[in-house]
Amino acid sequence: MSHSIDKDLLREALEQAHERFCTDTAGKNADYIPYLASVPSSLFGIAATLPDGDTLTVGDCDYSFGIESVSKVPTALLAMNQHSAEAVLDKIGADATGLPFNSIMAILLENDHPSTPLVNAGAISACSMILPTGSAEGKWNAIRNFIEELCGSKVEVIEELYHSESATNFNNRSIAWLLRNYERIYDDPELSLDLYTRQCSLGITARQMAVMAATIAFGGVNPLTRREVFKSNLTPRITSMMATVGFYEHTGDWLFSTGLPAKSGVGGGIMAVVPGRIGIAAFAPPLDSSGNSSKAQKALGFIAQRLNLNIFNAIDH
Ligand code: GLN
Repeated sequence: MSHSIDKDLLREALEQAHERFCTDTAGKNADYIPYLASVPSSLFGIAATLPDGDTLTVGDCDYSFGIESVSKVPTALLAMNQHSAEAVLDKIGADATGLPFNSIMAILLENDHPSTPLVNAGAISACSMILPTGSAEGKWNAIRNFIEELCGSKVEVIEELYHSESATNFNNRSIAWLLRNYERIYDDPELSLDLYTRQCSLGITARQMAVMAATIAFGGVNPLTRREVFKSNLTPRITSMMATVGFYEHTGDWLFSTGLPAKSGVGGGIMAVVPGRIGIAAFAPPLDSSGNSSKAQKALGFIAQRLNLNIFNAIDH
């Protein structure tokens, strides 16, 4: 039984997925953040990184798009790496809310019991946990450096997106203060909110996102740079969180259909991690009703089936 993935088969699967879904017109760009509505809807890229660091790409894999909620993954990992998985479980939790990503109801319902760093409330809370406490600049450097180590390359904030998002994030502002009310935020609420907004506004390419996925898949060692970015015992922690809530209220349907731990963002990116085997990213701006990229979901589902990537499958890897 071999776990390694044949490069030719992978290349073929990526190309077929791109060809099959590039004309798909389902979904629409996020528009509650004005910048995102203006991103060309036809962009579509798929990238996959293997254990040797080789990244195969098809389509628009060098276009820098808003990382948005995919950034919740590196920040949760960083919080676990700086403190411990147990500290994050205790202060935030690892349970799905079953509700939309920006749900205030979820906070009211679970006020005595935190939820997960992969929805907005938990992500703002995770930003508040990042060290050094109280230093906006120090915390931001820690988050950005960590993402750069995961990707093996530089990332920059898309300033227009950051301003667009900061000017319209009233719901997230309420979340930050509600967390304060329940003592579930561990630094200044405004500082934590701004960090969250900034991390969501980072530009990333599908190629970079695939390398980040692969670093997570390979136990924290970046396959490009060979640097150890985080403790290897955190891979099962973060992938279980992604599997539990990566697609918000559609996570169960996604996991049932594909068996892939993955995380979506309203910028149109989806990052999928198959532990020990491969990291894959897909990007296309039009979203379904839960804020998950329609085309990226279809492409990843197709590739998972072609390459037998379902992590729950007991046979024939
Ligand atoms: N920055 C966005 C928000 O907070 C991220 C949401 C997402 O990608 N699901 O609304």
